[in-house]
Amino acid sequence: MADLTSPGASKHVVVMGAGPAGLSAAYELTRHRTPVTVVEKDPRQVGGIARTLEFMGCRFDVGPHRFFSKSDEIEALWTEVLGEEIRSVARLTRIMYRGKFFDYPIKASNAFLNLGPYETARCLVSYAQARLRPVVDPKSFEDWVSNQFGHRLFEIFFKTYTEKVWGIPTTELSADWAGQRIRGLNLVEVIRNALLPAALRGGERAIVKTLVDTFRYPRTGAGQMWQGVASRLAAAGHPVRLGEEVVAVRHASG
Ligand SMILES: Cc1cc2nc3c(=O)[nH]c(=O)nc-3n(C[C@H](O)[C@H](O)[C@H](O)COP(=O)(O)OP(=O)(O)OC[C@H]3O[C@@H](n4cnc5c(N)ncnc54)[C@H](O)[C@@H]3O)c2cc1C
Repeated sequence: MADLTSPGASKHVVVMGAGPAGLSAAYELTRHRTPVTVVEKDPRQVGGIARTLEFMGCRFDVGPHRFFSKSDEIEALWTEVLGEEIRSVARLTRIMYRGKFFDYPIKASNAFLNLGPYETARCLVSYAQARLRPVVDPKSFEDWVSNQFGHRLFEIFFKTYTEKVWGIPTTELSADWAGQRIRGLNLVEVIRNALLPAALRGGERAIVKTLVDTFRYPRTGAGQMWQGVASRLAAAGHPVRLGEEVVAVRHASG
C-alpha cells in the first residue's frame, strides 16, 4: 500500500476520489499551498457521477447536470476554471407520461392540456386532501412528495421519473433526501412559478433551484469542469492518481 504522507509533512492531505467533492477540496487546498494527493479508482476519468463519457463520437453526461448556484463563490469558481467555456443555456426539461410531454418546471397550460379537466381536478382534490390530512412524520420520499404535491401528482410526475433515475423504489428513498433535493418546492410554488414572470417572483436568485429556466453549462459537458480542475491540480504539481483505489485508512494517535 502506498504511504502518501511523510513523517515531517503533517499537512500533506490525501483526498479519496476525484469526484466534484474531492476535486473541489483538493483545489481549495492547493490555493492555500497545502500539498495534496487525489487518489481515484477509475483508471481513465475524473468527475465521479458528474463526468462526461464519450460514445460513438458523442458526449453524454452520466446524469444531466445544471450549473446554477445561489452562492456567488461557487459561481465564481466555475467561471475561474471554465472561463468562456461555460455558457448560459435555456432549459428544456420534459417528462414523458402516457405518451405526452409535460414541461418541467410545470407550465399550467401545458399540464392542463395534457392532463385534461378530469385528471387536473383529481390532482387538485388529491392536493387538498394532502393539505388537510398530511402523512404525519413523513419517512420516505413518497410520503414527503405526497404531502407537498398530493398523491396523484406524486404518481404522475415524481414516482416513475425518480425510480428510473435513481433505481430505488420511492418508498425506500428517505424523506430527508427528498427535502434536500427539492428544497422549498411544493404545488403552490410550482403554480406561482408557472403563472408569474421571474421579475415578479423576486428574480432568478429567489427561485427554488430545481425550477430555474436558464442555467450555465460547460461547452463539452459537465465533466469539462472536473477535467479543468484536474488539469489545474496537475499544473500545480499535484496530478490526480488515476486507477488507484483506497482500500484502507490507517491512523495513529486517535
Ligand atoms: C441524474 C443526476 C443528475 C444530477 N444533477 C445535478 C445537478 O444538476 N446539479 C448538481 O449540483 N448535482 C447534480 N447531481 C449530483 C452530483 O452528481 C453529485 O452530488 C456529485 O457528483 C457528488 O460528488 P462526490 O465527489 O461527492 O461523489 P461522486 O461523484 O460519486 O465521486 C466519487 C469519486 O470517488 C471515487 N471513489 C470511490 N471510492 C473510491 C476509493 N475507495 N478509492 C478511490 N476512489 C474512489 C469514484 O470513482 C468517484 O470518481 C446529479 C446526479 C445525478 C445522478
